[in-house]
Amino acid sequence: MHTLNSHLILADYNQTYAMAVRGEGIYVYDETGRDYIDGSGCTAAVTHLGHGDTVIAEAVAEQARTLATHPTHLFHSPIVEQYFERLLEFAPEGFSRAWTISGGTEAVENAIKLAYQYHRAKGREGRKRVIGRWSSYHGNSILTLNVGGLLSRRSYYTDLMADQHIHVSPCLPYRRPAEQSIQEYEDGLVEEFARAVAEHPDEIAAFIAEPVVGSALGAGVPTQNYFPRIAEICRAHDIVIIADEVMTGFGRTGRNFGCEHFGTHADVMACAKGISGGYVPLGAILVKEHIAQTLRESGDPFFSGQTYSCIPLAAATGLAVLNRIEELGLVQNAAEVGAYLLDQLKTQLDLPVVGEVRGLGLFLGVEFVADRQTKAILPPEQMFFKRVQNACFEAGLTVMAARGTVNSRMGDHLLLAPPLIMDRADADELTNRLATGIRAAAATL
Ligand code: PLP
Repeated sequence: MHTLNSHLILADYNQTYAMAVRGEGIYVYDETGRDYIDGSGCTAAVTHLGHGDTVIAEAVAEQARTLATHPTHLFHSPIVEQYFERLLEFAPEGFSRAWTISGGTEAVENAIKLAYQYHRAKGREGRKRVIGRWSSYHGNSILTLNVGGLLSRRSYYTDLMADQHIHVSPCLPYRRPAEQSIQEYEDGLVEEFARAVAEHPDEIAAFIAEPVVGSALGAGVPTQNYFPRIAEICRAHDIVIIADEVMTGFGRTGRNFGCEHFGTHADVMACAKGISGGYVPLGAILVKEHIAQTLRESGDPFFSGQTYSCIPLAAATGLAVLNRIEELGLVQNAAEVGAYLLDQLKTQLDLPVVGEVRGLGLFLGVEFVADRQTKAILPPEQMFFKRVQNACFEAGLTVMAARGTVNSRMGDHLLLAPPLIMDRADADELTNRLATGIRAAAATL
């Protein structure tokens, strides 16, 4: 374990960090040779192809040898065009334009800027509010923290944030009030959304949501009609719908994109993580034609453009990853092995401390409780999420555990987002290690 001599500005001064030196398949190895199943998919939901994929390594190296980047203010390049064509084929119908940058925060930030520009192009200067949801993470810049609803990350910087954005409740059926049916719960959320829109007529530019909420809720799957009903309100007011597919994209949930489970009501998709499987930093926005066309007709360029926007190295990597996802049938594999893993977890994690196991594809979560009957949360000062993350690590499994399942502040959960290459035997091994970790953590309470 190495911490105090590190040159890093450490993310957590109280944590000890093992040294990762190698990866192969679903495993990461530390310097002593110990293996860890990459149950979190690195940080997190990134490593769709697992570690050490030589096909991707070769594609990255080949493009680096040929042309890593070029003066993007003067050139465009064929590999970028080839990649975008492929990317848009992989996307749901209607997406016609793409743009790449370095990661998820930039993707979300650019998606919001694009929505704002879309309204400006239509002469709607007043459209500058974004509706986000509590218990959602959309990135670590000031704007993305602001529209996001992860209090643990945003509260430190609120003085730097514009105050026009709006937050509504997320949709997590397990946490609905005890007396409500699923239908009543969904009705209430739709009413809350409609009220937020009605309170700010002609001021809402965009609505942003993760189709399935990842790290902030532990694979929070909404009710089936929640997004279609919210989308109806957005359509009626021409509010741009941004699907944050940073975690849920590229097969993670068993469909190409997470929003495809819920009727694909997105005008812009923000993507990252699995888009490159972690082999290079990469993010993208994919845009529906009516948005792109409005911008074109306005004559304004898209005011984006950063050093690593639309560069050949990233495009070649993204293209190779997409080809590999399709060649190995990983979207289907995520659906099948994910369903198997969910079943196994439900059986093996029948423990007093486990409130719910949930998720879609290989995007699964476990929510912890003090009492399964009342769903009472564990006392926050016990920091159960930390205990469970550490105990799983000891058992040879990385998970992403967090607090904030309830009111963005309390309640413990963990997220599993392992490589999509895993098979049923890997799922069994992951289940064993997870059960060992959770049992060990529960024993410390
Ligand atoms: N959106 C979601 C849903 C995420 O989970 C994350 C990162 O975890 C981001 C955006 C930000 O992506 P990045 O860390 O690549 O900037």
